[in-house]
Amino acid sequence: MKKEYLMAPGPTPVPPEVLLDMAQPIFHHRTPRFKKLFAEVNVLLKQIVRTSNPVITFASSGTGAMEASIVNTLSPGDKVIVINGGKFGERFGEICKAYGIQVIEVLQEWGIPVEAAQIEAVLKENPDVKAVFSTLCETSSGVVTDIKALGQVVAKTPAILVCDAISGLGADDMRTDEWGVDMLVVGSQKGLMLPPGLAFLSVSEKAKKLIDSCKTPKFYFNLKKALKSYDADDTPWTPAVTLIVGAHKSFSMMIEEGMDNIIARHTKLAQACRCGVQGLGLELFSKAPANTLTAVKVPDGVDGSAFVKKIRDEKGVTIAGGQDKFKGKIFRIAHLGYMNHFDVLISISATEMVLKELGYSFESGAGVKAVQKALL
Ligand SMILES: *Cc1c(COP(=O)(O)O)cnc(C)c1O
Repeated sequence: MKKEYLMAPGPTPVPPEVLLDMAQPIFHHRTPRFKKLFAEVNVLLKQIVRTSNPVITFASSGTGAMEASIVNTLSPGDKVIVINGGKFGERFGEICKAYGIQVIEVLQEWGIPVEAAQIEAVLKENPDVKAVFSTLCETSSGVVTDIKALGQVVAKTPAILVCDAISGLGADDMRTDEWGVDMLVVGSQKGLMLPPGLAFLSVSEKAKKLIDSCKTPKFYFNLKKALKSYDADDTPWTPAVTLIVGAHKSFSMMIEEGMDNIIARHTKLAQACRCGVQGLGLELFSKAPANTLTAVKVPDGVDGSAFVKKIRDEKGVTIAGGQDKFKGKIFRIAHLGYMNHFDVLISISATEMVLKELGYSFESGAGVKAVQKALL
């Protein structure tokens, strides 16, 4: 018998209550029943995103909403700033370039957070910038960005602020309206305790002005169409009905727990995880560690890729390795969504056992002991 533990930063475990609701028979979407469900989901979603603006739901993975934020606001030749401190910041730049948008890339060393002052300086030199793209949690490096500070800088300019909170929402604090985020990008399979397949995008009044003048061709991800349907508690195309049913449950669970309590829980789990890996003598990779996940440097003498494979195949614990140039050099443990104390203990305990088997030397139980100490 093999028991599986999903400890990667997406997809994350889905609560049994949500899975059971999604097991109900399918029903038609052009019905009062669906409209009522979708209206309720959208009220909950706004509370989770902490916005009074519409939040559009797409049947796509998170990248679909990243693309939607670009093709609906920018036109070929427009200039934007992209903060690239890892794989996902990089992706915003790649999508922009695919549509002929001029990208000023602010390259950050992986693991080092960007300072709002850096972006302020680039904005001063380029007053014609139409949008600034950032991640809340850069999942490839475990860095959380100070979106509040960035929001203050961008709000003073005509540019909109687009923030990828696909992994961060529901783990790292995110106050969309208060912090001046014009478009928040979210995915279902990370902090929201749902399977993959839904993406969400909030749309501010400032963003709507750009939507009106946007010339980039698009069809499926058309926000004008989506916003019109949204006002009638509807979607332009067939919605992912089953996932919307699941979202009703998971969002209700989140609002019942309370956003502040959810962030506090993740803060504690993240802190415990960091204590655990440091208890093993390992070094954190991120200089601004997120609540979403902990990125850890693979110790000298250990094959990082073999470690991630072994912990999954032999212990049933799926964590993530490094991406790109950090493949084999770091590993990433998520504490994200439907998780609590014992999930961190499982991750750290499995990490200990496999590192021991791979010849890394430390006092057995040191990680687990540090986690328990942090949690008590
Ligand atoms: C997972 C993730 C994405 C990609 O989302 P998909 O659902 O795979 O399209 C984008 N950005 C961040 C920060 C992520 O963590």
